[in-house]
Amino acid sequence: MSKVLVIGCGGVASVAISKCCQVSDVFTELCIASRTKSKCDALAAKLAPTTRTKITTAQVDADDVQQLCDLINSYKPDLVMNIALPYQDLTIMDACLACGVNYMDTANYEPENTDDPAWRAIYEKRCKEAGFSAYFDYSWQWAYKKKFEDAGLTALLGCGFDPGVTQAYCAYAAKHEFDSIDTIDILDCNGGDHGYAFATNFNPEINLREVSAPGSYMENGKWVEIPPMSIKREYNFDQVGQKDMYLLHHEEIESLGKNLPDVKRIRFFMTFGQSYLDHMRCLEDVGMLSTTPINYNGQEIVPIQFLKALLPDPASLGPRTKGKTNIGCIFTGKKDGKDKTYYIYNVCDHQECYREVGSQAISYTTGVPAMCGALMMLTGEWTKPGVYTVEEFNPDPFLDALDKYGLPRSENHNPVLVD
Ligand code: NDP
Repeated sequence: MSKVLVIGCGGVASVAISKCCQVSDVFTELCIASRTKSKCDALAAKLAPTTRTKITTAQVDADDVQQLCDLINSYKPDLVMNIALPYQDLTIMDACLACGVNYMDTANYEPENTDDPAWRAIYEKRCKEAGFSAYFDYSWQWAYKKKFEDAGLTALLGCGFDPGVTQAYCAYAAKHEFDSIDTIDILDCNGGDHGYAFATNFNPEINLREVSAPGSYMENGKWVEIPPMSIKREYNFDQVGQKDMYLLHHEEIESLGKNLPDVKRIRFFMTFGQSYLDHMRCLEDVGMLSTTPINYNGQEIVPIQFLKALLPDPASLGPRTKGKTNIGCIFTGKKDGKDKTYYIYNVCDHQECYREVGSQAISYTTGVPAMCGALMMLTGEWTKPGVYTVEEFNPDPFLDALDKYGLPRSENHNPVLVD
């Protein structure tokens, strides 16, 4: 029996909410709150006939802590699921602390305005000290650890697939498969085809910022940064086939480096087709990925936001996308004194996701873990005061829940390694 407030009603939130409504014994009451209330109302109307979960809706600007507090104090949830954008992480954490409510999200904080001088000063210091230059990092949210501890509240960070399930795979490998892990390669393959020359599978602004940033990986506890898309490998993915993949900076490398400090190397690879890369490079070259506002005919325009308005809405890709995703982790290490390799991954079919919840697999593979993370928090499996990432909790009940609710694991004890 619990009351949950979900903030955001986009591609990922819609899946998470649909899945919560399949587990009405735990998610007894749900409030969907977002900037555009009509989207919340439409989803609530679609789900109401299919579920025993009591759904209400609300309008909220999650950049405004007072509005969030007013909503939280009137609804009195047990948990706030932040599935809006990373820009809102800190305001929603502030509101949860002020109102005494547990918190979770699916992506770590980054500012909407990367030209803000106060933020930039801290960012540039961090680039020099830490050695990676992505706009997003955990420092902002880890700084809330003591506040959440003192308040006796749990904050769960980054509970999607990657970050999220990939870290549970690491915790599982460390717990059950290895005495010591030497290397982790996280491989994210999307073998889906939506038929457009160019579209992003989730929020274009967040997605394009991520993939146009320099790549980086962790070796012997230190970041190694490389130019964007400069390390390419090919891999033959189970049920998808041969794909090109590129080394990217990704947020879970940072938390895994902290929480599994003995691992010698942690890398993240994502597959991209040539058409996607060509479009992205061109858009970047002409300035369309910029977050700096320009003045056009007397109106201020942020290029990447204008681009977002032109691109297909990721939520509309569902019916068109065919093929599968394959996301997982390959480990090398030792067990009982012997060298060992291990691969744990999930394969998800775009069309099956669409038939079940009306979304493609990218939203599905993020929304289902968000629901399962909330389930862990609400059933007492994952509660400890403070601010934590997924690998800091017991992976077993979480992976069991993923098996049950749509993202079953596959294992390979003799995988092909990435060189
Ligand atoms: P969408 O753009 O589809 O949805 C974002 C939602 O947040 C929209 O409903 C939007 O409202 C709402 N929103 C934005 N700003 C505010 C605000 N100020 N106040 C209230 N609501 C707001 O994004 P996605 O669903 O694709 O992504 C959601 C999250 O999931 C992101 O943080 C993304 O980074 C993360 N993600 C994580 C992954 C993982 O594996 N861990 C993978 C993919 C995504 P409106 O409709 O008005 O625009």
